[in-house]
Amino acid sequence: MSSHKFPDNFKWGSATSSHQVEGDNRNDWSEWEKSPSRISQLKKEGKDPADFISGAACDSYNRWGEDFDLAKELGHNIHRFSIEWSRIEPRQGEYNLQELEHYKTLIDGLRERGIEPMVTLWHFTNPIWFAEQGGWLNPESPRIFAKFARFLAENLKEKVGLWITFNEGASVYVTASYLRGEWPPQHRSIFEFHRARKNMAKAHLLAYNEIHHACSPKISSERSVSQRRVPDPAPMSHNVWVGLTENNAHIVFGKYFWQRWIGKIYDYHRNLWFWSAVLPHCDFLGLNYYNIDRRLPGAKEAWPNPGWMPEMSWETDPKGIYHRLVALKKLGKPIYITENGIADKTDNLREKYIKDHLYWIWKAIQEGTDVKGYMYWSLLDNFEWARGFAPRFGLIEIDYATYARKVRPSALEYAKICKSNTLNL
Ligand code: BGC
Repeated sequence: MSSHKFPDNFKWGSATSSHQVEGDNRNDWSEWEKSPSRISQLKKEGKDPADFISGAACDSYNRWGEDFDLAKELGHNIHRFSIEWSRIEPRQGEYNLQELEHYKTLIDGLRERGIEPMVTLWHFTNPIWFAEQGGWLNPESPRIFAKFARFLAENLKEKVGLWITFNEGASVYVTASYLRGEWPPQHRSIFEFHRARKNMAKAHLLAYNEIHHACSPKISSERSVSQRRVPDPAPMSHNVWVGLTENNAHIVFGKYFWQRWIGKIYDYHRNLWFWSAVLPHCDFLGLNYYNIDRRLPGAKEAWPNPGWMPEMSWETDPKGIYHRLVALKKLGKPIYITENGIADKTDNLREKYIKDHLYWIWKAIQEGTDVKGYMYWSLLDNFEWARGFAPRFGLIEIDYATYARKVRPSALEYAKICKSNTLNL
Protein backbone atom coordinates (compact mmCIF):
# COMPACT_ATOMS: atom_id res chain seq x y z
CA MET A 1 0.00 0.00 0.00
CA SER A 2 1.30 3.46 -0.80
CA SER A 3 0.44 6.44 1.33
CA HIS A 4 -0.01 9.99 0.01
CA LYS A 5 -0.22 12.75 2.57
CA PHE A 6 -1.84 16.06 1.73
CA PRO A 7 -0.54 19.42 2.98
CA ASP A 8 -1.43 20.51 6.52
CA ASN A 9 -4.62 22.58 6.53
CA PHE A 10 -5.80 21.05 3.27
CA LYS A 11 -9.60 21.33 3.18
CA TRP A 12 -11.88 18.37 2.51
CA GLY A 13 -15.55 18.51 1.70
CA SER A 14 -18.25 18.57 -0.91
CA ALA A 15 -20.41 21.00 -2.87
CA THR A 16 -24.05 21.69 -3.72
CA SER A 17 -26.00 24.50 -5.39
CA SER A 18 -29.25 26.14 -4.32
CA HIS A 19 -31.50 25.25 -7.23
CA GLN A 20 -30.28 21.68 -7.32
CA VAL A 21 -30.95 20.85 -3.67
CA GLU A 22 -33.14 23.42 -1.90
CA GLY A 23 -36.53 22.92 -3.51
CA ASP A 24 -39.31 25.40 -4.24
CA ASN A 25 -37.22 28.01 -5.94
CA ARG A 26 -38.80 30.56 -8.22
CA ASN A 27 -36.31 31.71 -10.82
CA ASP A 28 -35.80 31.63 -14.59
CA TRP A 29 -34.99 27.88 -14.45
CA SER A 30 -38.07 26.87 -12.48
CA GLU A 31 -40.23 28.81 -14.96
CA TRP A 32 -38.51 27.23 -17.93
CA GLU A 33 -38.89 23.70 -16.50
CA LYS A 34 -42.65 24.18 -16.47
CA SER A 35 -43.00 26.10 -19.75
CA PRO A 36 -45.22 24.56 -22.46
CA SER A 37 -42.35 24.47 -24.96
CA ARG A 38 -40.10 22.55 -22.56
CA ILE A 39 -42.87 20.12 -21.63
CA SER A 40 -43.72 19.37 -25.25
CA GLN A 41 -40.03 18.99 -26.13
CA LEU A 42 -39.68 16.36 -23.36
CA LYS A 43 -42.85 14.56 -24.38
CA LYS A 44 -41.61 14.40 -27.97
CA GLU A 45 -38.45 12.73 -26.67
CA GLY A 46 -40.65 10.20 -24.83
CA LYS A 47 -39.69 11.51 -21.38
CA ASP A 48 -41.85 12.15 -18.35
CA PRO A 49 -41.74 15.94 -17.72
CA ALA A 50 -42.21 15.33 -13.96
CA ASP A 51 -38.65 13.95 -13.83
CA PHE A 52 -37.36 17.25 -15.19
CA ILE A 53 -39.07 19.71 -12.86
CA SER A 54 -36.92 20.64 -9.85
CA GLY A 55 -39.95 20.99 -7.51
CA ALA A 56 -38.98 20.09 -3.97
CA ALA A 57 -35.54 18.88 -5.18
CA CYS A 58 -33.87 17.38 -2.05
CA ASP A 59 -35.86 19.61 0.29
CA SER A 60 -32.54 20.83 1.65
CA TYR A 61 -34.05 24.24 2.32
CA ASN A 62 -35.68 22.51 5.30
CA ARG A 63 -33.33 19.58 5.83
CA TRP A 64 -29.95 21.31 5.68
CA GLY A 65 -29.29 20.47 9.35
CA GLU A 66 -29.51 16.77 8.62
CA ASP A 67 -27.31 17.19 5.52
CA PHE A 68 -24.61 19.03 7.44
CA ASP A 69 -24.74 16.53 10.31
CA LEU A 70 -23.89 13.84 7.78
CA ALA A 71 -21.15 15.97 6.21
CA LYS A 72 -19.62 16.40 9.66
CA GLU A 73 -19.79 12.67 10.38
CA LEU A 74 -18.06 12.10 7.07
CA GLY A 75 -15.14 14.24 8.18
CA HIS A 76 -15.80 17.24 5.92
CA ASN A 77 -14.35 20.56 7.04
CA ILE A 78 -15.44 22.73 4.11
CA HIS A 79 -18.74 22.97 2.25
CA ARG A 80 -19.46 24.89 -0.91
CA PHE A 81 -23.04 25.97 -1.54
CA SER A 82 -24.79 28.77 -3.38
CA ILE A 83 -27.08 31.50 -2.17
CA GLU A 84 -30.18 31.72 -4.34
CA TRP A 85 -30.30 35.24 -5.76
CA SER A 86 -34.04 35.02 -6.49
CA ARG A 87 -34.75 34.34 -2.80
CA ILE A 88 -32.63 37.25 -1.56
CA GLU A 89 -33.79 39.77 -4.18
CA PRO A 90 -37.22 38.58 -5.39
CA ARG A 91 -37.90 42.02 -6.91
CA GLN A 92 -35.17 44.34 -8.09
CA GLY A 93 -33.73 46.34 -5.20
CA GLU A 94 -36.03 44.68 -2.62
CA TYR A 95 -34.16 42.37 -0.33
CA ASN A 96 -35.91 39.64 1.59
CA LEU A 97 -34.50 39.78 5.10
CA GLN A 98 -36.15 36.56 6.16
CA GLU A 99 -34.27 34.70 3.42
CA LEU A 100 -31.07 36.46 4.44
CA GLU A 101 -31.68 35.20 7.96
CA HIS A 102 -32.17 31.67 6.59
CA TYR A 103 -28.73 31.70 5.00
CA LYS A 104 -27.15 33.27 8.08
CA THR A 105 -28.51 30.43 10.21
CA LEU A 106 -27.32 27.88 7.67
CA ILE A 107 -23.80 29.38 7.65
CA ASP A 108 -23.75 29.39 11.45
CA GLY A 109 -24.91 25.78 11.29
CA LEU A 110 -21.88 24.90 9.18
CA ARG A 111 -19.48 26.71 11.48
CA GLU A 112 -20.99 25.04 14.56
CA ARG A 113 -20.17 21.71 12.95
CA GLY A 114 -16.58 22.79 12.27
CA ILE A 115 -17.23 23.17 8.53
CA GLU A 116 -15.96 26.23 6.69
CA PRO A 117 -18.55 27.81 4.36
CA MET A 118 -17.62 28.63 0.77
CA VAL A 119 -20.36 30.76 -0.76
CA THR A 120 -21.16 30.87 -4.47
CA LEU A 121 -23.21 33.91 -5.51
CA TRP A 122 -24.41 32.63 -8.84
CA HIS A 123 -24.87 29.04 -9.95
CA PHE A 124 -26.82 29.11 -13.28
CA THR A 125 -30.11 30.61 -12.00
CA ASN A 126 -31.36 34.18 -12.31
CA PRO A 127 -34.25 36.01 -10.67
CA ILE A 128 -37.20 36.24 -13.04
CA TRP A 129 -37.07 40.07 -13.15
CA PHE A 130 -33.40 39.89 -14.12
CA ALA A 131 -34.13 37.44 -16.94
CA GLU A 132 -36.99 39.63 -18.14
CA GLN A 133 -34.58 42.55 -18.48
CA GLY A 134 -32.47 40.53 -20.88
CA GLY A 135 -30.46 38.46 -18.43
CA TRP A 136 -26.74 38.53 -19.15
CA LEU A 137 -27.27 40.40 -22.41
CA ASN A 138 -28.46 43.46 -20.51
CA PRO A 139 -25.66 46.07 -20.43
CA GLU A 140 -26.76 46.88 -16.88
CA SER A 141 -26.37 43.26 -15.73
CA PRO A 142 -22.85 43.72 -14.29
CA ARG A 143 -23.93 46.57 -12.04
CA ILE A 144 -27.13 44.82 -11.01
CA PHE A 145 -25.16 41.73 -10.00
CA ALA A 146 -22.50 43.75 -8.19
CA LYS A 147 -25.17 45.38 -6.01
CA PHE A 148 -26.46 41.96 -5.03
CA ALA A 149 -22.89 40.90 -4.21
CA ARG A 150 -22.40 43.98 -2.10
CA PHE A 151 -25.62 43.40 -0.18
CA LEU A 152 -24.54 39.89 0.73
CA ALA A 153 -20.98 40.87 1.57
CA GLU A 154 -22.18 43.64 3.88
CA ASN A 155 -24.47 41.23 5.66
CA LEU A 156 -22.29 38.15 5.78
CA LYS A 157 -18.81 39.59 6.12
CA GLU A 158 -18.41 38.37 9.71
CA LYS A 159 -19.38 34.84 8.73
CA VAL A 160 -17.89 34.12 5.30
CA GLY A 161 -14.26 34.24 4.20
CA LEU A 162 -14.43 32.33 0.91
CA TRP A 163 -16.55 33.79 -1.88
CA ILE A 164 -17.10 32.65 -5.44
CA THR A 165 -18.83 35.06 -7.80
CA PHE A 166 -19.73 32.81 -10.74
CA ASN A 167 -19.95 29.07 -11.23
CA GLU A 168 -18.92 28.05 -14.76
CA GLY A 169 -20.32 31.25 -16.28
CA ALA A 170 -18.18 31.20 -19.40
CA SER A 171 -17.15 27.55 -19.69
CA VAL A 172 -20.64 26.04 -19.39
CA TYR A 173 -23.53 28.48 -18.95
CA VAL A 174 -23.09 30.91 -21.84
CA THR A 175 -22.44 28.01 -24.20
CA ALA A 176 -25.55 26.09 -23.11
CA SER A 177 -27.81 29.16 -22.83
CA TYR A 178 -26.67 31.49 -25.59
CA LEU A 179 -24.80 29.36 -28.12
CA ARG A 180 -26.30 25.87 -28.13
CA GLY A 181 -29.83 26.87 -27.13
CA GLU A 182 -30.12 24.04 -24.59
CA TRP A 183 -30.72 25.96 -21.36
CA PRO A 184 -32.89 29.00 -20.74
CA PRO A 185 -33.16 31.41 -22.50
CA GLN A 186 -32.33 28.92 -25.32
CA HIS A 187 -30.66 31.35 -27.70
CA ARG A 188 -28.33 30.37 -30.50
CA SER A 189 -25.98 33.20 -31.38
CA ILE A 190 -22.24 33.50 -31.26
CA PHE A 191 -22.60 37.26 -30.77
CA GLU A 192 -24.86 36.83 -27.76
CA PHE A 193 -22.56 34.15 -26.40
CA HIS A 194 -19.71 36.63 -26.44
CA ARG A 195 -21.77 39.54 -25.11
CA ALA A 196 -23.07 37.48 -22.21
CA ARG A 197 -19.62 36.28 -21.17
CA LYS A 198 -18.21 39.81 -21.42
CA ASN A 199 -20.98 41.08 -19.15
CA MET A 200 -20.23 38.30 -16.70
CA ALA A 201 -16.56 39.19 -16.72
CA LYS A 202 -17.44 42.80 -15.96
CA ALA A 203 -19.84 41.65 -13.26
CA HIS A 204 -17.05 39.64 -11.67
CA LEU A 205 -14.68 42.62 -11.64
CA LEU A 206 -17.27 44.84 -9.98
CA ALA A 207 -18.44 42.18 -7.54
CA TYR A 208 -14.86 41.36 -6.56
CA ASN A 209 -14.29 44.95 -5.54
CA GLU A 210 -17.67 45.29 -3.85
CA ILE A 211 -16.99 42.28 -1.67
CA HIS A 212 -13.54 43.47 -0.66
CA HIS A 213 -14.79 47.01 -0.03
CA ALA A 214 -17.65 45.74 2.08
CA CYS A 215 -15.35 43.48 4.06
CA SER A 216 -12.59 45.99 4.62
CA PRO A 217 -13.04 48.18 7.67
CA LYS A 218 -10.86 50.89 6.12
CA ILE A 219 -13.05 51.73 3.16
CA SER A 220 -16.11 53.93 3.48
CA SER A 221 -19.44 52.28 2.82
CA GLU A 222 -20.76 55.28 0.89
CA ARG A 223 -19.37 54.12 -2.43
CA SER A 224 -22.07 53.20 -4.86
CA VAL A 225 -21.76 50.50 -7.45
CA SER A 226 -23.28 52.53 -10.24
CA GLN A 227 -20.75 55.37 -9.99
CA ARG A 228 -17.77 53.26 -10.79
CA ARG A 229 -16.07 52.26 -14.02
CA VAL A 230 -14.27 48.94 -14.24
CA PRO A 231 -11.69 49.46 -11.56
CA ASP A 232 -8.30 48.19 -10.50
CA PRO A 233 -8.61 45.29 -8.11
CA ALA A 234 -9.51 46.42 -4.61
CA PRO A 235 -6.91 45.64 -1.97
CA MET A 236 -7.58 42.21 -0.49
CA SER A 237 -9.34 42.47 2.81
CA HIS A 238 -8.08 40.50 5.75
CA ASN A 239 -9.18 36.85 5.66
CA VAL A 240 -11.48 37.32 2.69
CA TRP A 241 -10.82 35.60 -0.59
CA VAL A 242 -12.90 36.15 -3.69
CA GLY A 243 -12.56 33.63 -6.49
CA LEU A 244 -14.11 32.47 -9.70
CA THR A 245 -15.05 28.90 -10.55
CA GLU A 246 -14.78 27.53 -14.07
CA ASN A 247 -15.23 24.08 -15.54
CA ASN A 248 -12.17 22.68 -17.28
CA ALA A 249 -12.08 19.65 -19.50
CA HIS A 250 -8.88 17.91 -20.42
CA ILE A 251 -8.80 18.55 -24.13
CA VAL A 252 -7.24 15.84 -26.22
CA PHE A 253 -5.50 17.22 -29.25
CA GLY A 254 -4.70 15.38 -32.40
CA LYS A 255 -1.04 14.83 -33.14
CA TYR A 256 -0.60 17.06 -36.19
CA PHE A 257 0.59 20.60 -35.91
CA TRP A 258 -2.69 22.12 -37.19
CA GLN A 259 -4.75 20.03 -34.77
CA ARG A 260 -2.65 21.18 -31.85
CA TRP A 261 -2.99 24.75 -33.01
CA ILE A 262 -6.80 24.57 -33.19
CA GLY A 263 -6.75 22.68 -29.88
CA LYS A 264 -4.92 25.56 -28.20
CA ILE A 265 -7.49 28.09 -29.37
CA TYR A 266 -10.28 25.82 -28.26
CA ASP A 267 -8.57 25.27 -24.89
CA TYR A 268 -8.36 29.03 -24.39
CA HIS A 269 -12.06 29.60 -25.05
CA ARG A 270 -13.29 26.42 -23.39
CA ASN A 271 -11.14 26.49 -20.25
CA LEU A 272 -9.28 29.70 -19.72
CA TRP A 273 -11.21 32.63 -21.14
CA PHE A 274 -12.97 33.83 -17.97
CA TRP A 275 -9.97 33.61 -15.65
CA SER A 276 -7.74 35.25 -18.26
CA ALA A 277 -10.21 38.15 -18.61
CA VAL A 278 -10.24 38.93 -14.87
CA LEU A 279 -7.11 37.37 -13.39
CA PRO A 280 -5.94 40.30 -11.20
CA HIS A 281 -9.40 40.19 -9.62
CA CYS A 282 -9.11 36.55 -8.52
CA ASP A 283 -7.70 35.65 -5.14
CA PHE A 284 -8.06 32.02 -6.04
CA LEU A 285 -9.24 29.84 -8.89
CA GLY A 286 -12.09 27.39 -8.38
CA LEU A 287 -11.60 24.38 -10.63
CA ASN A 288 -14.44 22.04 -11.58
CA TYR A 289 -13.11 19.01 -13.40
CA TYR A 290 -15.07 16.02 -14.64
CA ASN A 291 -14.08 14.80 -18.06
CA ILE A 292 -12.09 14.64 -21.25
CA ASP A 293 -13.15 16.58 -24.28
CA ARG A 294 -12.08 14.89 -27.52
CA ARG A 295 -12.68 17.38 -30.23
CA LEU A 296 -10.32 16.74 -33.02
CA PRO A 297 -10.06 14.02 -35.60
CA GLY A 298 -7.12 11.71 -35.12
CA ALA A 299 -7.22 12.08 -31.32
CA LYS A 300 -8.81 8.73 -30.54
CA GLU A 301 -5.66 6.91 -29.51
CA ALA A 302 -4.33 9.64 -27.27
CA TRP A 303 -5.29 7.93 -24.00
CA PRO A 304 -4.75 4.26 -23.38
CA ASN A 305 -7.28 3.82 -20.57
CA PRO A 306 -10.28 5.99 -21.09
CA GLY A 307 -13.11 5.66 -18.59
CA TRP A 308 -16.76 6.25 -19.10
CA MET A 309 -19.48 7.86 -16.96
CA PRO A 310 -22.60 6.22 -18.36
CA GLU A 311 -25.21 8.38 -16.60
CA MET A 312 -23.75 11.48 -18.26
CA SER A 313 -22.15 9.92 -21.37
CA TRP A 314 -18.89 11.58 -20.40
CA GLU A 315 -15.44 10.19 -20.94
CA THR A 316 -13.31 10.48 -17.84
CA ASP A 317 -9.60 10.42 -17.19
CA PRO A 318 -8.26 11.12 -13.71
CA LYS A 319 -4.88 12.17 -15.06
CA GLY A 320 -6.67 14.97 -16.88
CA ILE A 321 -7.02 16.87 -13.61
CA TYR A 322 -3.26 16.77 -13.25
CA HIS A 323 -2.83 18.27 -16.71
CA ARG A 324 -5.33 21.02 -15.87
CA LEU A 325 -3.59 21.79 -12.57
CA VAL A 326 -0.22 21.99 -14.27
CA ALA A 327 -1.71 24.38 -16.85
CA LEU A 328 -3.38 26.51 -14.16
CA LYS A 329 -0.22 26.72 -12.08
CA LYS A 330 1.06 29.16 -14.69
CA LEU A 331 -1.70 31.60 -13.71
CA GLY A 332 0.01 31.97 -10.32
CA LYS A 333 -3.06 31.75 -8.07
CA PRO A 334 -4.01 29.28 -5.33
CA ILE A 335 -6.54 26.70 -6.45
CA TYR A 336 -9.51 25.03 -4.81
CA ILE A 337 -11.03 22.02 -6.52
CA THR A 338 -14.61 23.24 -6.19
CA GLU A 339 -16.19 20.24 -7.98
CA ASN A 340 -15.16 16.79 -9.10
CA GLY A 341 -17.42 13.79 -9.10
CA ILE A 342 -19.19 10.97 -10.85
CA ALA A 343 -22.84 10.16 -11.54
CA ASP A 344 -23.01 6.54 -10.45
CA LYS A 345 -26.23 5.10 -9.11
CA THR A 346 -24.58 1.72 -8.48
CA ASP A 347 -21.79 3.30 -6.41
CA ASN A 348 -19.43 0.74 -7.96
CA LEU A 349 -17.21 3.34 -9.61
CA ARG A 350 -17.28 6.28 -7.19
CA GLU A 351 -14.58 5.22 -4.74
CA LYS A 352 -12.11 4.57 -7.56
CA TYR A 353 -13.08 7.78 -9.36
CA ILE A 354 -12.38 9.83 -6.22
CA LYS A 355 -9.15 8.05 -5.31
CA ASP A 356 -7.70 8.18 -8.81
CA HIS A 357 -8.42 11.90 -9.11
CA LEU A 358 -6.98 12.55 -5.67
CA TYR A 359 -3.81 10.72 -6.63
CA TRP A 360 -3.28 13.08 -9.56
CA ILE A 361 -4.11 16.12 -7.45
CA TRP A 362 -1.58 14.94 -4.89
CA LYS A 363 0.98 14.51 -7.68
CA ALA A 364 0.40 18.08 -8.92
CA ILE A 365 0.83 19.34 -5.35
CA GLN A 366 4.16 17.48 -5.08
CA GLU A 367 5.24 19.35 -8.19
CA GLY A 368 4.50 22.70 -6.63
CA THR A 369 0.87 23.43 -7.52
CA ASP A 370 -0.83 25.32 -4.72
CA VAL A 371 -4.05 23.37 -4.18
CA LYS A 372 -5.89 24.36 -1.01
CA GLY A 373 -8.78 21.93 -0.90
CA TYR A 374 -11.04 19.41 -2.62
CA MET A 375 -14.82 19.42 -2.78
CA TYR A 376 -16.53 16.37 -4.16
CA TRP A 377 -19.62 16.99 -6.33
CA SER A 378 -21.96 16.44 -4.74
CA LEU A 379 -22.86 15.93 -1.10
CA LEU A 380 -26.31 14.74 -2.24
CA ASP A 381 -27.98 13.30 -5.30
CA ASN A 382 -29.75 16.29 -6.80
CA PHE A 383 -31.51 18.00 -9.69
CA GLU A 384 -29.08 17.69 -12.59
CA TRP A 385 -30.37 20.62 -14.69
CA ALA A 386 -31.71 19.68 -18.14
CA ARG A 387 -31.06 15.98 -17.39
CA GLY A 388 -33.45 16.01 -14.45
CA PHE A 389 -33.16 13.67 -11.47
CA ALA A 390 -31.71 10.58 -13.16
CA PRO A 391 -27.95 11.18 -12.72
CA ARG A 392 -26.83 10.32 -9.19
CA PHE A 393 -23.74 12.25 -8.16
CA GLY A 394 -24.27 12.08 -4.39
CA LEU A 395 -22.07 10.79 -1.61
CA ILE A 396 -25.50 10.55 -0.05
CA GLU A 397 -28.38 8.89 -1.85
CA ILE A 398 -31.76 10.64 -1.85
CA ASP A 399 -35.03 8.77 -1.94
CA TYR A 400 -37.15 11.34 -3.76
CA ALA A 401 -40.39 9.79 -2.47
CA THR A 402 -39.54 10.28 1.20
CA TYR A 403 -36.46 12.56 1.10
CA ALA A 404 -34.66 10.00 3.23
CA ARG A 405 -30.89 10.31 3.12
CA LYS A 406 -28.64 7.26 2.91
CA VAL A 407 -24.85 7.41 3.03
CA ARG A 408 -23.28 5.47 0.16
CA PRO A 409 -20.33 3.12 0.87
CA SER A 410 -17.99 5.29 -1.23
CA ALA A 411 -18.75 8.24 1.08
CA LEU A 412 -17.28 6.24 3.95
CA GLU A 413 -14.14 5.55 1.96
CA TYR A 414 -13.85 9.24 1.12
CA ALA A 415 -14.40 10.02 4.83
CA LYS A 416 -11.28 7.99 5.72
CA ILE A 417 -9.26 10.23 3.43
CA CYS A 418 -10.82 13.42 4.80
CA LYS A 419 -10.20 12.41 8.41
CA SER A 420 -6.61 11.26 7.92
CA ASN A 421 -5.61 13.90 5.33
CA THR A 422 -4.03 10.97 3.56
CA LEU A 423 -4.83 8.92 0.49
CA ASN A 424 -3.90 5.28 0.85
CA LEU A 425 -3.76 3.28 -2.36
C1 BGC B 1 -22.16 22.12 -12.33
C2 BGC B 1 -23.12 21.37 -11.44
C3 BGC B 1 -23.52 20.08 -12.11
C4 BGC B 1 -22.30 19.23 -12.33
C5 BGC B 1 -22.56 17.90 -12.99
C6 BGC B 1 -21.12 21.25 -13.00
O1 BGC B 1 -20.95 21.65 -14.30
O2 BGC B 1 -21.59 23.20 -11.65
O3 BGC B 1 -24.20 22.20 -11.17
O4 BGC B 1 -24.47 19.39 -11.39
O5 BGC B 1 -21.41 19.92 -13.16
O6 BGC B 1 -23.06 18.06 -14.27
